[in-house]
Amino acid sequence: GAAAEVLAAHVRDVQDFPKPGVVFKDITPLLSTPAAFGVVIGALADLARDLSVTTIAGIEARGFLLAAPVADRIGAGLVPVRKAGKLPGATRRETYDLEYGTATLEIHQDAVAAGERVLLVDDVLATGGTAAAAHNLLRGCGADVVGLAVLMELSFLAGRDRTGALPVTSIMTL
Ligand code: IMP
Repeated sequence: GAAAEVLAAHVRDVQDFPKPGVVFKDITPLLSTPAAFGVVIGALADLARDLSVTTIAGIEARGFLLAAPVADRIGAGLVPVRKAGKLPGATRRETYDLEYGTATLEIHQDAVAAGERVLLVDDVLATGGTAAAAHNLLRGCGADVVGLAVLMELSFLAGRDRTGALPVTSIMTL
C-alpha cells in the first residue's frame, strides 16, 4: 500500500551494523521526514483502531518512537516495555536468548489492567525473541494482546515462528 512505498523510500540500509555481516534497517530518515512519518504512523493508527485497542505497548527503544504518536492519535494508553533496570516500580521480567547470550525485558506489574486490548509496536521483527518476550510479559498481567505491529519484518529470520499465536502485521516484508 501507500504506507509501504513511503516507508521503503525512507529506510536506510547500514552495512555491518551492529556487527560484521548484518545489514541494519535504519528508520532515522523516516523520523526526520514529517510527511512520511505521518503516513506511517497513520497506517499503524488505522490498524490499532480496527483492532479496538485500548493500549499501545512500545518496545525499547525504537518502538517507543512509534508507539507514542500512535497512542496519542487514537486516544489509547501507552505502556513502555523496557530493558532491564530502567523502570522504577515493581516489575515483571522475562529473559530470552539472543544469538550470543541473553536479554531481559521488563514491564511494571501494574502496567495494564486485566482485559485491556493491547497492540505491541516495534520497528523491526527479526528472530522474534523480543516480541515473544514482550508478549509473555503483557499476557502475564492479564492483558489481551491482540497483535504485533512492526514497520518491517525480516521474513528470512522466521520471527513468526517464535511469536506463536500472536497475529503479526508488518507494513513491509523483506
Ligand atoms: P528480534 O528479537 O531478533 O526479533 O529482534 C528485534 C529487535 O531488535 C527489535 O526490538 C528491533 O528494534 C531490533 N532490530 C533487529 N534488527 C534490526 C534492524 O535491522 N533495524 C532496527 N532494529 C533491529
